[in-house]
Amino acid sequence: MNAHLIDGEERPSEKGGTFTTINPATGEELDTVALGGEADVNAAVDAATRAGHLWRRVPAAERAALLRRLAGLIRAGASEIATLEARDSGRPISDCHDDVAICADLLDYYATLPQNIRGATYAEQPGHLTHSRREPYGVVAAIAPWNFPFFFAVTKTAPALATGNTVVLKMAEQTPLTSILYGKLCLRAGFPPGAVNILNGDGRTGALLAAHPGVKKITFTGSTEVGRSIRQASTVSCHLELGGKTANIVTKHADLVAAARTSVHHAFFNAGQVCTAGSRLLLDEAIAEPFMELFLRATAGIVVGDPLAPTTQVGALISEQHRARVQEHLSRAVDEGASIIAGGNPSAVGAFLEPTVLDGVVPGMAAAQEEIFGPVVSVMRFRHLDEAVRIANGTPYGLAATVWTDQLAEALDLTDRLDAGIVWTNCPYRDHAHVPYEGHGLSGQGEEGGLETINEFTQLKVAYLGSPSTPWTLP
Ligand code: NAD
Repeated sequence: MNAHLIDGEERPSEKGGTFTTINPATGEELDTVALGGEADVNAAVDAATRAGHLWRRVPAAERAALLRRLAGLIRAGASEIATLEARDSGRPISDCHDDVAICADLLDYYATLPQNIRGATYAEQPGHLTHSRREPYGVVAAIAPWNFPFFFAVTKTAPALATGNTVVLKMAEQTPLTSILYGKLCLRAGFPPGAVNILNGDGRTGALLAAHPGVKKITFTGSTEVGRSIRQASTVSCHLELGGKTANIVTKHADLVAAARTSVHHAFFNAGQVCTAGSRLLLDEAIAEPFMELFLRATAGIVVGDPLAPTTQVGALISEQHRARVQEHLSRAVDEGASIIAGGNPSAVGAFLEPTVLDGVVPGMAAAQEEIFGPVVSVMRFRHLDEAVRIANGTPYGLAATVWTDQLAEALDLTDRLDAGIVWTNCPYRDHAHVPYEGHGLSGQGEEGGLETINEFTQLKVAYLGSPSTPWTLP
């Protein structure tokens, strides 16, 4: 049984509750996990509160050293982490290995944050000093989704720790295993007991955690619906990373071969279970036909299968229930007039679904508006760029947008006009730890990445230091 990790100890649930985690590629039960209830939430927040008194006083250089040590332990344990991740999430093992390496590099970057926390001094009269500083909030509740479990265990906790907060992490119930391992690695790296607590459970556990009065900041990644409910119920600062419906616009000036090859990855990487997946393919009518020929050929070549096989490119969806939801989206799209021109077939065993191309989609259809979060791309056509921009901006989301063109002026023009937190030209999924991003519209609130992370996880304090012998009013 996988316990919670509270105050540096493995603890079963106080009321003995458990749940099972399933291997989505086989449908078999993988392991039993403690299910957090109110008493466990209280214990985790209390432990984090106590640890916070110490952790916020640890010198910046020591916090940085611990983050680097954690990066080293993750590199050393890469095989174990990647294999566990592939089994618990259905993701291809090669992607899991990539993620583990990315996480270690991210920790090296987060290790630069503690020594970059800055304040300012302000002009004052002699004998007075006015300065600002950034202080940790205290206990951060980190609530994460299942689509990149280990990655989110790291990215939801490390910036908070780097800036002097302590954390209670609630990973998604579908993929608890690698976050438990991560918590153990944090302890081995030397983080004090209670600085990183791992609380297992489902949405009810998450809701209890988010509502706990000892929590001073919430960082949430997940669906727009749950993010909205957390924000509405909460009185503390919320950092929200939510859903998306990325438009991938192929103009008549695109390099079609490169665009088709990369757009397949953009649509189907991680079985399309990516918040920034290029799930709406917008094609200039002038190039739609040759582009689709290349795109469909590349889609047909995707290797779907056993997540543990090194050549697999697309694994299972997270669960059979989630696959059923994706299939409902497909049926609705067909009812509304779209046609499935590739894929669409489920596997008999495991939660697999062939990469699926929906053609004949128009902007008002659900397939053009709602996040499907599966291996499904909705193809639409446009006659001129104004129309492309209108379609691209025509959803309530605003996470990312992609443009394919070799014309600089066109790229700059579209970058100006697309309402999204990230605009990629010819390079979807490009991402660097030192570059921040933020979702627009219903896609989020608050910045992630870069030095901007510091402001996200600290609060401002301004201090006026005066001297009784130098009064601040004129005599
Ligand atoms: P979800 O919102 O259902 O669950 C996310 C987490 O919230 C889980 O840990 C879950 O247990 C918990 N939760 C559920 N109900 C809760 C409640 N009422 N209160 C508190 N916590 C609760 O999302 P999901 O299905 O796990 O993940 C898929 C979603 O995540 C997609 O919409 C995707 O776009 C989004 N996502 C966004 C980003 C981003 O960076 N913007 C990244 C990855 C995933």
